[in-house]
Amino acid sequence: MFNYSIKDACLNNKTILVTGAGAGIGRTAALTYAKLGATVILLGKTVSKLEAVYDEIVALGLAKPAIIPLDLKGATKQNYIDMCSTIVSQFGQLDGALLNASILGELTPFTQIHEQVFNDVMKVNVTAQYLLAQALIPTLLLAPKSSLVFTSSGVGNQGRAYWGAYSMSKFATEGMMQVIADEYDTSNLRTNAINPGATNTNMRSCAFPAEDKTEIASPEDIMPLYVYLMSNDSIEVNGQTLKAQ
Ligand code: NDP
Repeated sequence: MFNYSIKDACLNNKTILVTGAGAGIGRTAALTYAKLGATVILLGKTVSKLEAVYDEIVALGLAKPAIIPLDLKGATKQNYIDMCSTIVSQFGQLDGALLNASILGELTPFTQIHEQVFNDVMKVNVTAQYLLAQALIPTLLLAPKSSLVFTSSGVGNQGRAYWGAYSMSKFATEGMMQVIADEYDTSNLRTNAINPGATNTNMRSCAFPAEDKTEIASPEDIMPLYVYLMSNDSIEVNGQTLKAQ
């Protein structure tokens, strides 16, 4: 695992947006950030899943979260702009954003990639991330030190047979991260990407249905890197893709 000791209350007074916060790695990251003192903004597609995370955070007596139900497949540029206006009016600034939500599409030979699947993967994993990041950056720049974190994959800088649109989308994600990191290199905003590594979630089960789930990391196991990149300990880190395990 990424070698970092999580310190109590290290995210106190920070407001952090997490996309895909209703399930998998995003859910665990949102709960972890809340437990470390952050106010979390839970963005996702399925409202009932977001509400379950919201209820869990409130039941623990932590800072009251906010919910943003949004389907990244259909969302428009204006939706993201409106969302950021609401964040600024409610919270004043945004200290961190974890762009975690994405879809796998289908694992198929390249010649059989269905155009609709390709378009859906690119819309959710690339276009939505670009529009979201474009809207979020001015909001993130309002904070004294802010962190924008993209989510890549092992197939995000090395292509692999049958990983088709998903692999291509993660290359684009890493490229987007590097472009933003370079543009804002001298600002208060740092931009990085996480490669979570094999982690026991729905997405992983879809890609490897027969795998022994006890052999792979849980979302909780990989949290040190997720916390590090949101904490002030990573203030000097910019433009990196870091492995969570
Ligand atoms: P899951 O499929 O378990 O969770 C994905 C999350 O994204 C869900 O909360 C889902 O919401 C949300 N989401 C999907 N589509 C949309 C959409 N159109 N609009 C809004 N939200 C959406 O995935 P993981 O937790 O495994 O993956 C998290 C990230 O980590 C992804 O970027 C993935 O590519 C990456 N990753 C994961 C690995 C692994 O082994 N698990 C390995 C390498 C990278 P809902 O449930 O409502 O659909």
